Amino acid sequence: MTDQLVIPDSLKPSDGRFGSGPSKVRPEQLEALLAQGRTVLGTSHRQPPVKRLVAALRSGLAELLGAPDGYEIVVGMGGTNAFWDAASFALLRDRGAFAVCGEFGAKFATVARNAPFLADPIVAEVEPGTSVQLQTSHGVDAYCWTQNETSTGVVTPVRRVAGSGEELMLVDATSAAGAVQIDLAEADAYYFAPQKVFASDGGLWFAAMSPAALERIETLSAQRWIPATLDLQVCVDNSRLDQTYNTPAVTTLALAAAQVEWMLDNGGLSWAAGRSAASSTTLYEWAERTSYTSPFVEDPANRSPVVGTIDFEGVDAAAVAKTLRANGIVDTEPYRKLGRNQLRIGMYPAVEPEDVAALTACIDYVAEHL
Ligand SMILES: *Cc1c(COP(=O)(O)O)cnc(C)c1O
Repeated sequence: MTDQLVIPDSLKPSDGRFGSGPSKVRPEQLEALLAQGRTVLGTSHRQPPVKRLVAALRSGLAELLGAPDGYEIVVGMGGTNAFWDAASFALLRDRGAFAVCGEFGAKFATVARNAPFLADPIVAEVEPGTSVQLQTSHGVDAYCWTQNETSTGVVTPVRRVAGSGEELMLVDATSAAGAVQIDLAEADAYYFAPQKVFASDGGLWFAAMSPAALERIETLSAQRWIPATLDLQVCVDNSRLDQTYNTPAVTTLALAAAQVEWMLDNGGLSWAAGRSAASSTTLYEWAERTSYTSPFVEDPANRSPVVGTIDFEGVDAAAVAKTLRANGIVDTEPYRKLGRNQLRIGMYPAVEPEDVAALTACIDYVAEHL
């Protein structure tokens, strides 16, 4: 290990976690967990301590995201991938239209394609690094897209498809909810998992659901056979009681609740989004003025404020990531299937904006000394 490049401590960020998910957990969240550990951990999830956590998350998320009247925060087990499976049973009636600009959008489209009771999906697919806005299509009952495509660092606006009527808007906000401004009236199911913006562990999903989405779930779950763990009506019924169908990941609930409280105490969504915007402005400005880097996403309007993808030229990004990792600065590797000479930087609200500036100084140091 004698030839391992050592980055001077004076350049290093205060915290070296820049993953796009799971992402940095603030030490204060762990302290909050420890402080309440004996009441929420190792105790019944059907009793007040854990039910209060679920209640705090449901009301806190509704406040943070500005849920309109009639919208409900629903919680379920299994993360976003499980939500896709559940949605194929009780939110997609017959045919969905999907915008695909990366891995995550593609995965939900595949779930729909493989469901034997659904018609073939309509898929609008574009090159990684770009975004696509869905158009109305005949016979479609749900439009599905990803607000922040975590594999490429592309954001797509959340707006009802122009000219649509009763169709549902299903928005994967896994890596955007809580860090990007949102008008929830533009979505019917705005769903996410807590291991990205909410700096928690995985294993759960949350969704802000409109009255139209809740009605669709009630209708379809009465018509179709649905495994109980994937039945959204079961999730809705339990959420209304501040519970989950079976035992939840309580640590995940507690860490997420601490993060939502931190955001609300400091000014809510605009404050949280402002932190990510400050971090990403630093990153993209650095990438534009640095000779060997450029932002992967060409259109500045599509550049993610939470997941920055930076192309390298003439410098081996994988070697940079490896050296950073050896120095305690981790998870800057690009999305594995994208296959580019690139770094990907998670800049969720938990990340200190000054730490992103420090990260760019560390990258420059490594690039110079490799
Ligand atoms: C991480 C991520 C997922 C997958 O979430 P899981 O909880 O691991 O299933 C889905 N969509 C997006 C946009 C993501 O960033």
